[in-house]
Amino acid sequence: MTHPLSEIYSLLKPISCMMCGQCCVLPQCTFVEFVFLMNEMQSLVSFETRQAFLTQKLQPSKQFQGNFDCIFQKNQQCQIHPARTLMCRLHGDPILTKIGQSENCKKVDREETLSEFDLSQIGTQLDHLNRVYYEIDAMPFLLDSLNIACWLELYYSDLSPLPFIKNIQIHLKTLLHPDYQHHIYTPVTQILDKFITVDKAYYCLENGDVPKAEGFYWKLIEQYPDSIGYYTDKAFILLEQLYKNLNRSDKLNFLALQKKRIFT
Ligand code: SF4
Ligand code: SF4
Repeated sequence: MTHPLSEIYSLLKPISCMMCGQCCVLPQCTFVEFVFLMNEMQSLVSFETRQAFLTQKLQPSKQFQGNFDCIFQKNQQCQIHPARTLMCRLHGDPILTKIGQSENCKKVDREETLSEFDLSQIGTQLDHLNRVYYEIDAMPFLLDSLNIACWLELYYSDLSPLPFIKNIQIHLKTLLHPDYQHHIYTPVTQILDKFITVDKAYYCLENGDVPKAEGFYWKLIEQYPDSIGYYTDKAFILLEQLYKNLNRSDKLNFLALQKKRIFT
């Protein structure tokens, strides 16, 4: 039987590509795509190759600051091509740049293969498929923006004390091919600590403990400056909002200085 995700992927039109591999940074994907990719990979490459992927040291991307070269690429070729994510399948389509995704082909001007409407329809279908596995309302933004290294870390880490993350981890451990239990993986992203810090900051804000919330946001900024793709950015936005609401121009100025220091 065809996997429902293959049906979603089949809605995409082929995009011409010179296979230079330059846009191949660790792709972000949803839960269901990660499970599909990992399970399909079982029949695409050997145990040894999978282990080589998982133990590969992440190399910062020269092209896209804050991300890493994809672990599945070898000699500019994707080793898991039939199982690649939606993001990978859209590389090269100008629609990605149009919707604000910077990690896209910079080589040639091309025609869009999808309209924004088509893309949102595909996104909705993907959402529905993911909801079969987890309550997306829990904290969707955290889960939709995970890259492959973060997903791997959730799978290979001990269960989190945060119930919704623990739930995801249990699902992953049930759904991934049992062979993966025999692989070795060393965590690199500290995603679980980031989740806990974001959760604590939200809790403090909801309960009016602004100084404590501020401390957690600063921890994200100081401790994970490389996460500019998401966490640091998000922490800056939230702190900015906080200081504006409190009319703290001194703190806003200090924040602006820190932003300059980290981002330039
Ligand atoms: S989409 Fe563009 S950058 Fe990516 S591999 Fe193809 S030609 Fe290279
Ligand atoms: S999974 Fe394949 S297509 Fe996607 S970024 Fe990695 S190498 Fe490129």
